[in-house]
Amino acid sequence: MEERITEKAGEVSAGTMEEKTEMPVVALRGKVFFPNTFLNFDVGRPASVAAVNAANGFGNRIFIVAQKNSWVESPARGDLLSYGVVARIKQVVRISGGSAMKVYVEGLYRGKITEWKDGTGYFCAAVEKAPYILSADEITTEAYLRTAKNAFIGYAEGDKRINPEMIATVTDIKDPNSFTDNAISVSKLKDADAQALISENDTVKRLEAFSRIMLKEKAIGEIEREINAKVRAGIDKSQKEYYLREQIKAIHNELGDDKDVRTEIIERLKRVNPPTEVVEKANKELDRLDKINPSMPDYSVIFNYLDWLCELPFGVSTTDRESLTEAIKILDGDHFGLEKVKQRIVEYLAVHKLTGELKGPILCFVGPPGVGKTSVASSIARALGRKFVRMSLGGVKDEAEIRGHRKTYVGAMPGRIISGLKTAGSNNPVFLLDEIDKMSSDIHGDPASALLEVLDPSQNSTFRDRYLELPFDLSKVLFITTANSTEGIPAPLLDRMELIELSGYTPEEKFEIAKRYLISKQLKNNGLTADRIIFQDSAITEIVDGYTMEAGVRNLEREIGSVIRKVAAKVAEHPRLKPQTITAETVKDYLGVRKFVKEETLGKNEVGACTGLAWTAVGGVTLTIEVSLFSGKGEILLTGKLGDVMKESARAAISYIHAHAKEYGLSEDKFTGKDIHIHVPEGATPKDGPSAGITMATAILSAFTGKPVKKDVAMTGEITLRGRVLPIGGLKEKALAAYRSGVSVVVIPKANLKDLADVPKSVRRKIKFIPCETVEEVFSVAVDGYKK
Ligand code: ADP
Repeated sequence: MEERITEKAGEVSAGTMEEKTEMPVVALRGKVFFPNTFLNFDVGRPASVAAVNAANGFGNRIFIVAQKNSWVESPARGDLLSYGVVARIKQVVRISGGSAMKVYVEGLYRGKITEWKDGTGYFCAAVEKAPYILSADEITTEAYLRTAKNAFIGYAEGDKRINPEMIATVTDIKDPNSFTDNAISVSKLKDADAQALISENDTVKRLEAFSRIMLKEKAIGEIEREINAKVRAGIDKSQKEYYLREQIKAIHNELGDDKDVRTEIIERLKRVNPPTEVVEKANKELDRLDKINPSMPDYSVIFNYLDWLCELPFGVSTTDRESLTEAIKILDGDHFGLEKVKQRIVEYLAVHKLTGELKGPILCFVGPPGVGKTSVASSIARALGRKFVRMSLGGVKDEAEIRGHRKTYVGAMPGRIISGLKTAGSNNPVFLLDEIDKMSSDIHGDPASALLEVLDPSQNSTFRDRYLELPFDLSKVLFITTANSTEGIPAPLLDRMELIELSGYTPEEKFEIAKRYLISKQLKNNGLTADRIIFQDSAITEIVDGYTMEAGVRNLEREIGSVIRKVAAKVAEHPRLKPQTITAETVKDYLGVRKFVKEETLGKNEVGACTGLAWTAVGGVTLTIEVSLFSGKGEILLTGKLGDVMKESARAAISYIHAHAKEYGLSEDKFTGKDIHIHVPEGATPKDGPSAGITMATAILSAFTGKPVKKDVAMTGEITLRGRVLPIGGLKEKALAAYRSGVSVVVIPKANLKDLADVPKSVRRKIKFIPCETVEEVFSVAVDGYKK
């Protein structure tokens, strides 16, 4: 409720006022009042209320003066300016319920306090008229006035609160001081500026100061507007994005997949305990995802990427089994024999346990197929209590298979290492890299160098997959590699590996493996129990001897599986079928006729054919070298799988026999006009040439002399031009091959005698190893009826 009182009584016109008058003083905060203008202001402070109330006794005059600092609540005399405006109160509106009032005044003239009056209870002072002084001539003043008007227009046009009519009215004022006063009161000036202008006596100086302030305020206004525009633009953009995001959410809801993608991804990501870098990257990608319409191809690219991040075990590890004895038990329980291998693995695990790290060399299991390389590796995982992943490198020739494709490629995926870790679900699995000797390289880069980065402990803690674009710590992974032979392993990789050889098994070992492991494994695989099918020992031996001819036990396992499957089929048909007993005789009912017959393998003694032993990636093999002579131009014809080295061995053998022809009772004409044809069947590797030297020499001698070579003798050894027998490698594999093929005598170089220790006892018991130093000794052992 307002009570309106318009006080007209006792009004004294300005003209009748004395030059110096006493009147109440009102302090104005945060504003400067100018003569020639009107002012509406609130009065609340007791001193000011008392002053306004007292004005009645002073012809409704009050002196309105600005407070130097607006924040002073109860100002003292010294807090007020001396210059102010003598005003006439035109209206006072009291606000009911308190002493506060709204006061409307007209500024009459500028005044200056000359003397304070005491004891009034409000500010009261003697005020003297203080008109502005015109010091310059008319023209100068006019020039200043125009400048000030232009400055004012420039400022006011940028200030929305000043409308064009107001600008016109103010600029129409002819009197320079009246113009300045009015222009100031419509403009928004700083307190200090306004106070300086009310305190300035000189008209021209005021105009000048006012112009300067206007120009400054105009410039500030412009910059302010620029800043505002920028801020607005920012706000508008984020509002637009917000709006679009809401729309996308609405689309998701409409489509039924109302689960918030961001929340879901973040939740899933937390489960893999990722490093900050991954979380940051995920957030970035989520921001991108937010802006893309789900029907766009880019959406699924980013979504797939995020899905990968959520599935990778960045910070997920399994706890290693502490007990080493337990680990040894598991290794022993899973495999028959392989004592040296197991021993070495236990040492490796012990070192790992003590040092707590895997900085040692990478284990590489080398050996023919089916000897248990893969299954030993998986046992290691079980022994350690780690997850197991296997990846075959056979045929990998593109670097991207290891390191992945950038995600800009259509259908891009991480490489096989990262994929393997996703499968493992932990960042410390046993990771088997199979067939590392079967990698090749092509124009798409060398996978070996990428693999080096994976295996090298000094760089694999920050392995970068191209798809992932983030480092993944591979240092906790236990990498194990396998190879059939070290030959195909790139040298830099070989350098970082510790080779553990797993060689072939003897038939006795195969028998034990089948009996203890393979049968129960296959029974389980085929859903049968041991009470349904009984393998007699003789049946197992029959399968080993008659149906397999291999270094490992892969085919043996397959054949056993085949027998079990056939029984399983019968059981499925007749559930009450009585237990089936497999004997040596009934094996053929399941597997057909014998695939390998010892007698046939050996055959009869032949002229010009000699059994050699060779080492290949699939283990040791026997190979028969054949030689035949016919009339011709004295040429040497070599066919079959012959490398350069083997050809040289053949020539050396011929030269040796030719040179010693007389000693063998061969006349020179036996050699003239004769072509010699040497054939080495498939199976031997060209590199094996040297160890076939004595075999070729024996076959050639037999062909020239017509004396047959004994069929139950096999041999291996290099030959020199002088007929000396030089040592060879891979004796153990070769001995096993000889054993499998049923020969009873094996000729070996004398220098290899020490290697016999590696040959299983069962083999040494059955085969007679004859060490030879010269080719003559070989001939005397192998050629039937040989006499020098
Ligand atoms: P590789 O990786 O050397 O080619 P695998 O590990 O695949 O051979 O072995 C073939 C099969 O033979 C597997 O089922 C494996 O368990 C079995 N095996 C091989 N060696 C042994 C062994 N010493 N004891 C028990 N099982 C074996």
